[in-house]
Amino acid sequence: MGFLDTDIKFLKGVGDTRAKVLASELEVTNFGELLYTFPMRHIDRSRFYKISEFSGDMPYVQVLAYFVSCQIEGEGAKRRLKALFSDGHRLMEVTWFTKISYFQNAYKPGVEYVLFGKPTLYRSEWQMSHPEIDPYDPASPPRGFSGVYSIPDKMRKRGYATRFMSNIMRNLVEHPRFGEIVDPLPREVRERYRLMGIREALSNMHFPESKESLQRARERMKFEELYYLQLNIQRYSRERGRRIRGYCFTRIGDYFNGYFKNHIPFELTGAQKRVLKEIRNDMRTGRQMNRLLQGDVGSGKTMVAFMTMLMAADNGFQSALMAPTEILATQHYETIKAWGDKVGLRVELLTGSTRTKARRVIHEGLLTGDIDIIVGTHALIEDTVQFRNLGLTIIDEQHRFGVAQRGKMWKKGNIAPHVLVMTATPIPRTLAMTVYGDLDVSVIDELPPGRKPIQTSLRYDTNRNEVYQLLYREMQAGHQVYIVFPLVKENEKLDLKSVEQGFERIQKIFPNVGVRMVHGKMKPAEKDLNMDALASGEAKILVATTVIEVGVNVPNASVMLIENAERFGLSQLHQLRGRVGRGAEHSFCILMTKHQIGAETRKRLTIMTQTTDGFVISEADMQMRGPGDMEGTQQSGIAFNLKIANLAKDGQIVSICRQAAESVLNAHPELIEAPQVGIEEYPGERIELSPESVALTKMELHKRFHKEYDWSQIS
Ligand code: ADP
Ligand code: MG
Repeated sequence: MGFLDTDIKFLKGVGDTRAKVLASELEVTNFGELLYTFPMRHIDRSRFYKISEFSGDMPYVQVLAYFVSCQIEGEGAKRRLKALFSDGHRLMEVTWFTKISYFQNAYKPGVEYVLFGKPTLYRSEWQMSHPEIDPYDPASPPRGFSGVYSIPDKMRKRGYATRFMSNIMRNLVEHPRFGEIVDPLPREVRERYRLMGIREALSNMHFPESKESLQRARERMKFEELYYLQLNIQRYSRERGRRIRGYCFTRIGDYFNGYFKNHIPFELTGAQKRVLKEIRNDMRTGRQMNRLLQGDVGSGKTMVAFMTMLMAADNGFQSALMAPTEILATQHYETIKAWGDKVGLRVELLTGSTRTKARRVIHEGLLTGDIDIIVGTHALIEDTVQFRNLGLTIIDEQHRFGVAQRGKMWKKGNIAPHVLVMTATPIPRTLAMTVYGDLDVSVIDELPPGRKPIQTSLRYDTNRNEVYQLLYREMQAGHQVYIVFPLVKENEKLDLKSVEQGFERIQKIFPNVGVRMVHGKMKPAEKDLNMDALASGEAKILVATTVIEVGVNVPNASVMLIENAERFGLSQLHQLRGRVGRGAEHSFCILMTKHQIGAETRKRLTIMTQTTDGFVISEADMQMRGPGDMEGTQQSGIAFNLKIANLAKDGQIVSICRQAAESVLNAHPELIEAPQVGIEEYPGERIELSPESVALTKMELHKRFHKEYDWSQIS
């Protein structure tokens, strides 16, 4: 058995009981898993700090100090043991809340100890609680840098903390068989990219020799992780391309040309034209198109969607457009119906609130092929919805739908329809490359001409008068206003209250203009009525929750006022802001917050005032929140499980790994295929090919793509 596969219980310092703890709390069952449990950060144990050097933001530090005295304070739950230690110049307090009777007798006055903990300031005195304490041994060498591990509370409470982890890790790194570890990265790759070898890297990850070697070790481990991730993603996408058949849309005919020549209401932007070409090229290859269309808010994705539908119609196929909300679906329907009427295409709307009778008619029309284009919500993926020949599925605002739902739409045809996923959440390049490795990406990076800049400002509750004056002026000038309140899922009732109260307040402040409200709990018909009132100008103010976030289009609106802006993510704020600046000469976005906001929040919101570039905002958002929180990250279908690489920060390594993986796959196309997956033709169960079904482990990939390596070393 390989060294790394050895059961963890055989490691010195572990044994049966601790092995169970490691398995249940850290999912560590063997040597390899322990070695790949990396410290979240490192601390400097190469020196002793003086109490006078302490500062509030210090991590764990090491102090050499004498025990002075201790006493018990408080009663019941507040009972604690307090001790004083002295470094010869100053005193420090040490507090224990548990195991009091043990610690009470553990230390001797006048003896020197090494204390290791995080200094905190309490009533202007420095203190540590539950530090690690060892007798000072002048003969033992300084311990250098060591790792701090993320340890679940449950485990910590049982007494297994950093010291336990360091000890067993040390035993592992110094194990006589440590040298047997085979490098998961082949030599050629290591040499080409000048990467540290695996044993040196692992040992430096846990016990760095220096800051520099830690840095190199981290790079190496990130590379390993991302390289194999890329190999899997790209194998999957190539397999897809090779195996999944698609309709061949060869014709560009009367629908497309007729609309383009005679009816199109504006000149397409260069970016729209380019993207349409990319889509056209995709759809005539005989392979299924699987494309992500990214375009900032207002960049004109709807027209691209419509013209793609025209291509489908020219080839005799039906199209479906699915939107995440009823409001958005309805808006799309109205837009697309108006456009479709011009060329005689029949467009219908199907949502959850379509009446039974109308629904029956639509079902029939889809089956006979009388309906050319169907726009709708989730209602479209119900099993009762069948098509005569669905050739194209367009999904708007992808982050609201999961991969499973994408799959469901595919199953509606005999051959998988082409899929175009549209998103206004600009996904940073590195993330797109990784997360959407199985999608081709098109970007509309140009806004239609004539867009007016939006002036964004940060305002506090104390500036309300001034803000309301601005609203008043804008309405006088004939414009409309959005006022948005946050909606947080955990407490819908409370949130609803805040919108409703806001609504009442605004009605009082502006008694003579129409004020309407929309929120998620409202009946669709009522929502529509209120939205329409704003669109027609009958109402001047729309008070809303984020239901208006996507897609809503009232060109005459000039103010977007966002209450409690600190509770929104940047991407969400960007989406909301995109509702204005679509027609009015000058537009305003006002981010309202309480007077007291933290520096972090201020920094985040300030980005909004500095740029309107969705990509810049999205990068910043990702840097601050980490990619795990990005809307859309969960959709990939590939469990990343990254232990060390950070998609937000390691963009450069991601691109290098992507290239490295590409060149390997280009060199060995015959090795791409995943033998377990056998689908040549559809009918029946079609979508068996999934990222998971083709994913291989590092070692499997290594063996497959880097055969020249000497595998006799591994048993
Ligand atoms: P989004 O990409 O956010 O979905 P839309 O498709 O809703 O954007 O387009 C926003 C607005 O811009 C719409 O009113 C649309 O008619 C208009 N529009 C789209 N393309 C162009 C263009 N090339 N020139 C002028 N206006 C355009
Ligand atoms: Mg849109």
